[in-house]
This record gives sequence, structure tokens and C-alpha cells, in this order.
Amino acid sequence: VLIQSYESSMSVGCYQYQDMESGSSASNYRLEGKVAIITGGASGIGEASVRLFVQNGASVVIADVQDEKGLELAKELCSDTVVYKRCDVTQESDVEALVDFAIKKWGKLDIMFNNAGILGKSLTKEVSTMDMDDFDHVMLVNTRGMVLGVKHASKAMLQTKTKGSIICTSSIASISGGLATTAYTISKHAVLGLIRAASSDLGRYGIRVNCISPAGVVTPLVVEFLQKVTSNPSLTPAQAQDACDETSCFVGHSLSALDIAHAALYLASDNAAFVSGLNLVVDGGFTASHQGFKK
Ligand code: NAD
Repeated sequence: VLIQSYESSMSVGCYQYQDMESGSSASNYRLEGKVAIITGGASGIGEASVRLFVQNGASVVIADVQDEKGLELAKELCSDTVVYKRCDVTQESDVEALVDFAIKKWGKLDIMFNNAGILGKSLTKEVSTMDMDDFDHVMLVNTRGMVLGVKHASKAMLQTKTKGSIICTSSIASISGGLATTAYTISKHAVLGLIRAASSDLGRYGIRVNCISPAGVVTPLVVEFLQKVTSNPSLTPAQAQDACDETSCFVGHSLSALDIAHAALYLASDNAAFVSGLNLVVDGGFTASHQGFKK
């Protein structure tokens, strides 16, 4: 049970995590004393991860280009352990400054969650009609942005001798074609190459690098996408949820941003101390079964 607590004596955040059965609290902080950056932290999966990481005792820098949402979230949570910093992940100077900011503020960086991403403007899946400007932009944010996050986080971890955890948000489009646009699919496949190369490189320093591949999660990104593909600008999040559930082969649970945040929490925590180079697919078995399989 997560109990919001604003006791000023608390040194590890504004949230107290209490075990329902034992009633104990402090032992349940899975990220106690850790410093994290979450890109794309103002919305969707990133926002859910910010909340969960803070609840688990981490100090978190929310990084995004949506200043208003990021600042609002930081204010809502707790000014001592959560801060917002604007960062456009496509700009190397921004990413470098973001990592420096975390190090200056809290002395180290334990967790870099490279999560910011876009679907792109073009909706075509057809390679023969791909819009190459859109392709470049999708690659810039989804691939180059993640490379920059891994580069500067690992550099800082090496300098401070921190055995950190670097996580990237990929997608089920990283392991299968036809689930998203060609540009998005390519950009997310590249994330697999990134985490494999980086985990191979950084393992000798005790730095782990993994990615998470979610199926469809109802976030602003997905609602906007479905509004466009269905030509229904008033499609609601509930209708988007129905559409995601429709493609799922898993009964009894709808995938949520919190489910992905829990996957990130696992990879960020010491529970995953020997896990590196993994693509943690969170899709209720969708890509493991044939897509034609129905409940
Ligand atoms: P979202 O739109 O709610 O969140 C994405 C965030 O990234 C936004 O806050 C946005 O402002 C930020 N962002 C975009 N470009 C940026 C940039 N250049 N610099 C910094 N921040 C930037 O969407 P989401 O669904 O939470 O997406 C998070 C990640 O999950 C993305 O990488 C996305 O590709 C991936 N993903 C999402 C789904 C899904 O179904 N929602 C499935 C698989 C993978």
C-alpha cells in the first residue's frame, strides 16, 4: 500500500511505502539512496515511472520538453527529491547538461531511464512511400536520443565509479515488423543494438544496460495515434484501451503505464543485479504467440 506522507523528517522522499502484511516500511524502498534520471518523464510511461521510483526512495530528475507538465509533476510529488529539468534528447548539449545537473545536485547517477520517444507524423507502414524527413526525425528522437542518454550516463557512471543501471524504452516493434510504422520499427530495433553493444562494453565496469519492450499502453502518444488512424479526433482514452485490449491475447489484465514502470523498477533495482543486455518484453505473450491467436 502506498501511503502519501508529508512528514518533514523523512529523508527519502514524500512517499512512504508500507508492506500490508508486515506493516514494515523502510525495507520496502527498492531504490533507496539511488539517483535517477527519467527522460520523457512528464507523461505516460515516464510519468508513471517517476511516481513509482519516488515511492521507492529514489531521487529523480524528470527530463522532458513539456515544461509545464514536468514542473507540475515535480511540484505535486516533492521538491526535495524530485526536480524537473528541460532536456531535448536530440541535443547532445542538453543531455550532457542533464547528466551534469543530476551529478551536481546529488553527487552521482545510479539509474538512467532513456524513455522519451515519439511515433512520428507519418502513419504509413509502407516502405515504398516512406516520408524520409519523418524517418529522420523519428530516428533522431528514438534512436539518437537514446544513444546520447547511454553515452553520457555511462560516461558519468565511469567517472564516479558508479555501478549503475541504464534502461531504454524500446517496443514490441523492436522484435517484429508490421506493428507500427516502418520508421518507428527501425528506430526501436536500433535500441536493441544499442543495449546489446553497450551492455557488452560496460559489463566489465559493473554497469548494466537493458531495455523494455511494451505492447500498446494507453498514453497520450497512443491516444493521438489512434485518433489519427481512425480519423476520430474525439476518440477517448477508454476507447483507446478497448482497442489495445482487442489486440491482446492475455485475459484479465489491461496493460498500463504502471506495469511498464514496474518493469523499469525491477531493472533499476538491485534485484536485477546480474541482468544486462536483456530486452524485457511486456506484452502478455503477444509476440510469443502468433498474432492470429484470440482469446
Ligand atoms: P508519451 O507521449 O505519453 O510520453 C513521451 C514523452 O517523451 C512525452 O512527455 C514527450 O514530451 C517526451 N519527448 C518527446 N520527444 C522528446 C525529446 N526530443 N526530448 C525529450 N522528451 C521528449 O508516450 P509514452 O507512450 O509514455 O512513450 C514513452 C516511450 O514508450 C516512448 O519511447 C515510446 O516509443 C515507448 N512505447 C510506448 C508504447 C505505448 O503503447 N504507449 C509502446 C511501446 C513503446
